[in-house]
Parts: sequence; C-alpha cells; structure tokens
Amino acid sequence: MATATAVFEPTVKISATKLLINGKWVEAASGKTFATINPSTGEAITKVAEADAADVDKAVAAARAAFEKGPWRKMSASQRGQLMHKLADLIERHGDELAQLESLDNGKPYHVARAADLPLTIACYRYYAGWADKIQGKTIPVNGPYFCYTKHEPVGVVAQIIPWNFPLLMQAWKLGPALAAGCTVVMKPAEQTPLTALRVGELALEAGFPDGVINLLPGYGPTAGAALARHMDVDKVAFTGSTEVGHLIMRAAADTNLKRVTLELGGKSPNVIFADANMDEAVEGSHFALFFNQGQCCCAGSRTFVEEKCYDEFVEKSVARAKKRTVGNPFDKSTEQGPQVDQEQFNKVMSYIESGKQDKAKLVAGGHRVGDKGYFIEPTVFADVQDNMKIAQEEIFGPVMSILKFKSIDEVVERANKNMYGLAAAVWTSDITKAHAIADGVRAGTVWVNCYDVFDAGAPFGGFKQSGIGRELGEYGLANYTEVKTVTIKL
Ligand code: ADP
Repeated sequence: MATATAVFEPTVKISATKLLINGKWVEAASGKTFATINPSTGEAITKVAEADAADVDKAVAAARAAFEKGPWRKMSASQRGQLMHKLADLIERHGDELAQLESLDNGKPYHVARAADLPLTIACYRYYAGWADKIQGKTIPVNGPYFCYTKHEPVGVVAQIIPWNFPLLMQAWKLGPALAAGCTVVMKPAEQTPLTALRVGELALEAGFPDGVINLLPGYGPTAGAALARHMDVDKVAFTGSTEVGHLIMRAAADTNLKRVTLELGGKSPNVIFADANMDEAVEGSHFALFFNQGQCCCAGSRTFVEEKCYDEFVEKSVARAKKRTVGNPFDKSTEQGPQVDQEQFNKVMSYIESGKQDKAKLVAGGHRVGDKGYFIEPTVFADVQDNMKIAQEEIFGPVMSILKFKSIDEVVERANKNMYGLAAAVWTSDITKAHAIADGVRAGTVWVNCYDVFDAGAPFGGFKQSGIGRELGEYGLANYTEVKTVTIKL
C-alpha cells in the first residue's frame, strides 16, 4: 500500500439538512436530528433532520396529492422531460460542489466522484429526460368489432430507498425513470450519506419541479425505511441495498397492499481469467473490478477465478498492484482508495479478513487497518481461496480480493453459479469461444468481457437469483415505473 500526498481543502458549504416535503424544507415531526459522519475522521460533518413514520405519512400524502391533482399530472410529457433536463444542467453546473459533498460524506476520492459519479449521474437524468415523451403503448389487432390499445401509465406514488455507496448515482438511477414515467416520489437516502441527495433536492426545486413531486426523507432503515415499505398509499417500492433488507421490503409489501417491488441487492460476482488473456490488462481490470469504490460495489468482482496455467503469475502481479494502491485522504489527488463508509462497515470487513485467515486462505497482501483515525483498510488479497470459505461465499463489500484456482470452463461455470447471488460476472480471454461459454453459462444479470464496471444509462442492470428483482437503467428500468392499461372500444 502506498500513501497519498497532494491534498486540497474542500470548500463546499452545506445548505440542505432538513426534510423535503411538498416543496418545503421542514424539521422532522419529532424534532430529532442525526449526525452524518466524515468517514475519514469519524467526526460529525453536520446534523440532519431525522424522518420517521409521521414524516413518511406527510410526504406520502404530498406525493399522492401531487400525483392526482397537481400540475405534474397535467403537464405534457415533453415538459416533464424539460424539467429533468434543467435538473441535469443544474447538477452539471454544481458538479464541483456536489463531488466535494459526496467525497466528504461517503469517503470516496474527490477526483473519482468528479470524473465518474458526476458524469454518470448527469447522463442518467438526461437519458431518462429523453424518454419522458417516448413512453408509448400499442394498438392490438383483437378479434371482433373492437379497437384495442394499451397505454403505459405512471405507477403512481413511489417509495425509493437507496444505499450509501453511490449516493448521487443511485438517486439518479431511481429518480430518472420514476420522473420520466410521471410518478411522484418519496425517497429515503441512506443514513450514512444524506447530503448530496438533499442538495439535489434544492436543485430540483430550482429547476421548477412542482411541490410534492420529489420528497426527500433522510432517516434510518428500520424506522423511516420500514414505514415507507409498509405504507398503504405507496404504489411501488424500489430498493437498493442488502439482500437481507430486500427480503424485509418484499415481506412488507406482501403484508400490506401488494405494492410493486423492485430490488437491486447484493452480489458475489465471479471474475474469470483465462491464461490466454492479455495478462496485464486482466490484472489491472480485476484489481479495478474489486477495489473500485473501496470495494463497496454490489457488482464487485469478488470471486477472482484464475486458470491454473496462469495462476502464479496472476497472483504475483495482483499482489504487486494491490501493494501499490494509494490509500488516504479522499481530497488528495493521488488517492485511489479512501475510507470505508462507517464504523459498522469497517468492522464487518475486518471480521471477514479475520475469517479468511482462520479458514487458512493465504493472506498475500494487506489485512490491517490503516492509521488510527477514520475507517481506512489496507488493500487486501487472499490467494488459494476455496469455494466453501466464508470469504468466497458472502458479500464482503470492502477492499478484500479472493483468488481461486480453476482448470476447465465447465468447472468454473459450475462453481461460479454455486452461489445465491447472480448480479454480474466477467471473463478475460482472447478466445471468443471461451468468452461466449462464460457469457452464456453464468447466471448473472450483467456479463463483462475483457472489461469491468462499464455502465451506461441505456444498458439494463440488475440481478438473477437473490441479487434482485427487476432491472434498473435503460428501457427495462423505465418499464418498472409504468402500469399497462388496456382500452377496448366497440366500433
Ligand atoms: P447496508 O448494510 O449496506 O447499509 P442496507 O440494506 O442496510 O445496506 O441499507 C440500504 C438502505 O436500506 C438504506 O437506505 C437503509 O437505511 C435502508 N434500510 C435498512 N433497513 C431497512 C428496513 N428494515 N426497511 C427499509 N429500509 C431499510
């Protein structure tokens, strides 16, 4: 691990720390606040109003009124798209500030937030702004003297519960299709990272979104989040987070009003390296696949399967690369890796490292905390990992690479699929036949060939198996925010 050196001081001012309900910034009904923590120091950045069930009731009522009676429902689809374009423009104009806020609250390097999170966020709003006036039904040639057509109508009031790993981007993935479809939204940002979501709320008001269309409720999962999932007047809940909480959300929907549910959950994605791959690219790509965003990606390539013939070379080069990774202050230009998001995640990752050692995986890089302040962890690599070890089965969500050896295509496909998750997979090879064998064989929502983490607002993303239900992004993501209505007219 290397240490970073060229630091600058963030200049961002924090303006939005309240709840956004019906176009107004308000205190929580309880008057409670909670501290949002800077993960680099463990110290509070500021206090934010803490939503609970009473605030959820108010926000859902505002979203319902905006959906049924407000100007939002009456405005044309292209006007909805124009508002979304305005929001994208404002986010672009405030890009530096938002990237600073994201970095402070989440711990990700500022220059990464600026170069990756911001452009992807803006592109997502623009992509869905373009869809707003292109949501069309069909005419159906039914039997008899009837004219039959379908309309794709907005699903209604949508609750959206988002995680802390990509706060701005996850907000865009959720708001984009919901607003394009004409829904109204009550969103709960993650308790670890509410600041950029709230700032985007300010920008949405500035763009001119009508009152009640976007409501933002920072707060905790078991209180505000659970109240949203159980609410009888919410038509759909969209959730991104852990598989464990995904089960709770689905149960809450089943126990109440059968609200529509889409879930984007955890992963343990296989990343397969064949000996015929360009080895340097495979090493760098696999390093990125695992360590990007402090390892806090649901689609992280967290089971690195390496063909026996190139195993030793791959391990040696991956260890060298991990040892070179710069860890430190997110506001240092040379930093590749900041802190984990909070104490809980830090503890969880450290306990997985302990478990890898106890299971006798070979610790070949890292394994320790960095410094004594904040939640920094050394880029860690385990070699000779076996399928039955906890670190090969469970989602670690941290900078811990697990390398496993394989011999044949059939074997690696079978092992790759022996897991409850199915979010993503990748293969590195110069042989198109092997690439196809993996792309066809793995049960995963996304497969990358000779690349990793290539995202585009138009390309659907989501999970097979317990990695989720439904897709985000693209046309498939939009479909989850509409109901199909069939109209039949006697001629
Ligand atoms: P992680 O363990 O990575 O923090 P979670 O699934 O706990 O992931 O959190 C993702 C989002 O789900 C956050 O916004 C969190 O507040 C919310 N959440 C957590 N528990 C619940 C719950 N019981 N009901 C609804 N939302 C929840």
